Amino acid sequence: MDCLFCKIIAGEIPSTQVYSDEHAVVFKDIHPKAPVHLLIVPRKHIISLAELEEQHDGLIAHWMRLLPKIAKQQGLNHGFRTVINTGPAGGQIVFHLHIHLLGGDKLSGAGFDD
Ligand code: AMP
Ligand code: ZN
Repeated sequence: MDCLFCKIIAGEIPSTQVYSDEHAVVFKDIHPKAPVHLLIVPRKHIISLAELEEQHDGLIAHWMRLLPKIAKQQGLNHGFRTVINTGPAGGQIVFHLHIHLLGGDKLSGAGFDD
C-alpha cells in the first residue's frame, strides 16, 4: 500500500519513534510546530476520522487514553494540544489517521482567550 505512515510503521521509512504498542505508534513530526510535536498513529490503516466505524470504538478509546500518558512522558506537565486534520479542506496531507500532540511552549489560544 502506498501510504507514508504505513511505511513508517513497517520500518521501511525511518522515523524517530517514542512509543509503540499493538494498536499505535508514536513518532516525532518531521516539521515540528512546537518544541514537542508528535504524531499518534494507529497501526491499522484508517484514512481519516471520516472513515471511523463502530468496530473502531475500542481502538479510539485506547488512542485517546494514550495521549495524556505520552504527554506526561514528554514532560508536558502544564498541558498540551491535540489536533486532528480531516480531509483536504481540513488540512490533512497524509491520509492515514493521526493525532498531532503539541506542547512545550505556552501555545496561543484558539481564539477563546481574547
Ligand atoms: P496532516 O496535515 O495532519 O496530514 O499532517 C501530516 C504531518 O505529517 C505533517 O505535520 C508533516 O510534517 C508530517 N510528516 C510528513 N512526513 C513525515 C515523515 N516522514 N516523518 C514524520 N512526520 C512526517
Ligand atoms: Zn496507512
